[in-house]
Amino acid sequence: MTQPLTAWHSFSLRKAAPDEPSIGAYGGHPRGIRPSEWPRCAVCGAPMCHMGQLDAGEWLDLGGYARMSLFICHATGGRCEDWDPWKGANRVILHKEIDNSLYDGPPTVRVYRRVLLAVDPPLDELALMMRVKKDGLPMRDALRSLRHDKLGGGAVWLHGDSTPKSVAGQGPMTLALQLTTSLVRFDITPKGMAYVFLDPHDRSPEAGRMLWQGS
Ligand SMILES: [Zn+2]
Repeated sequence: MTQPLTAWHSFSLRKAAPDEPSIGAYGGHPRGIRPSEWPRCAVCGAPMCHMGQLDAGEWLDLGGYARMSLFICHATGGRCEDWDPWKGANRVILHKEIDNSLYDGPPTVRVYRRVLLAVDPPLDELALMMRVKKDGLPMRDALRSLRHDKLGGGAVWLHGDSTPKSVAGQGPMTLALQLTTSLVRFDITPKGMAYVFLDPHDRSPEAGRMLWQGS
């Protein structure tokens, strides 16, 4: 019998095999983003670069939304503080519908290599943490085993917990995605990691926040 999924379950992300259904993609040109909707950096005003799009499913709870799109500013070499979840130099957009139409984008933005994504079966991170508590598994080994691209579960921090707080509820936001530079060499510090959180008290399309930490 399969166990019900909890907030402790995470789904490891990997490159989809040929002909395998994908649950999203890193890089390439985003789908369903009209030129008028293309996000611009709130700091420098430049069009942002597309990082990826992930679709909701049992592997990713988007609070009723169907897809999320991720963008980051690469226009100023980090001076816009693109690692900060609140500065507006990166963007998480939630979409009600899945629109796979291709529209033109700004000609000047950097385009990452497109990698279609699939997920592995869920991993129970609570069971892993119980092995730390009861079986003497070193915490650093447990955390190292979670240091990959994944949906849900707990964040593996490189420099301490920076979980954003819900604006309305003041409680912590929920991890939706942990992203590394291994599937696509995103232009954050090599071996850096990015984190996308959702505000459980915010039902708006702006409920997502992204931040990243360098290695
Ligand atoms: Zn910028």
